[in-house]
Amino acid sequence: MPDTILPMFEVHTIPAFNDNYIWLIGQTDSPFVAVIDPGDPEPVIEALRLHGKQLNAILITHHHSDHIGGIRTLLERSPVPVYGPAGEDIPALSHPLREGDTVTLEHHGLELHVIDTPGHTSGHICYLLENSLFCGDTLFAGGCGRLFEGSPEQMHHSLSKISALPADTQIYCAHEYTEDNLKFARIVEPNNPDILARQQQVQSQRQQDLATVPSTLSVELKTNPFLRSSQAVVREAAERFAGHPLNSEVAVFATVRHWKDTLD
Ligand code: ZN
Ligand code: FE
Repeated sequence: MPDTILPMFEVHTIPAFNDNYIWLIGQTDSPFVAVIDPGDPEPVIEALRLHGKQLNAILITHHHSDHIGGIRTLLERSPVPVYGPAGEDIPALSHPLREGDTVTLEHHGLELHVIDTPGHTSGHICYLLENSLFCGDTLFAGGCGRLFEGSPEQMHHSLSKISALPADTQIYCAHEYTEDNLKFARIVEPNNPDILARQQQVQSQRQQDLATVPSTLSVELKTNPFLRSSQAVVREAAERFAGHPLNSEVAVFATVRHWKDTLD
């Protein structure tokens, strides 16, 4: 018999805007759900109706409008706690969070662990629920967020923390950027068979209008150039782009991030 019986949970995917994903999480068979990064209130309200669920918490990863834009409208319908990064300006934030905090959702029996992941923004946080990571715009499937506020050192450190999680961790990122990201991954590593295979799989998923998220950490470690700065093949490609030797993983990461920025 197991020592503890973890509550089962389910995740519902809500596509929003052009390429955002909003997530509903809740204990299986519970009428309550929490929403993660509701940038747009309308698809959230529609999904709550569709699944017959009641909102009882809002969780935010960072302050960008495509992640927070629905907070006010959702609060007008139901006044619920708003969890988010302590270091950022989040509307109606009731529970500021930092590294090591645990969120225990009322009526859920679910616990989420907070991981600080500065880089995309200076206060960005991720939420770990058992083996599911809700990582906003820090790690993407095949890519990572742009460095709007943080340094390459910070983002590299944040991604290292994610890389150290168990390999079966499910990666729930906030955007459907996978196809574009893998095109770049192929430029960095044209001879990596895992990237080629993933690119073919993702292309066929997208042709059928299927989400490529969640991904798993094990797949990211094999195919995501932003988690592969320690690999000689990635360092050599980055050195060719930079035109000079790169003597640290951070320098490789910074160069690969800059390389992709020049192509977007
Ligand atoms: Zn963002
Ligand atoms: Fe975003």
